[in-house]
Amino acid sequence: MAKGSVIVRPERCKGCAFCVEFCPPRVLALSPAFNAKGYHVPELADPEKCTGCDLCGMYCPDFAIHGFRFPKPAPTAG
Ligand code: SF4
Ligand code: SF4
Repeated sequence: MAKGSVIVRPERCKGCAFCVEFCPPRVLALSPAFNAKGYHVPELADPEKCTGCDLCGMYCPDFAIHGFRFPKPAPTAG
């Protein structure tokens, strides 16, 4: 089960692929589609393996991607 996910803001992306290169589990890939500026934007190619670490967000020079962790499920009683 995925521990996190990403939010991409395509209008800010310039397709540099830093996020793809620096993602530790290598779960990002540049989409074949273009944004309005003509750049390929990242997408989660393997969403189940995203940890939500936000390294992609830390390396993005344009604040175009942001990783976040899902809340931990509450412990079950009993
Ligand atoms: S949040 Fe972490 S694991 Fe998920 S895509 Fe970004 S760098 Fe990769
Ligand atoms: S999201 Fe940021 S780091 Fe990733 S390709 Fe776009 S501009 Fe580059």
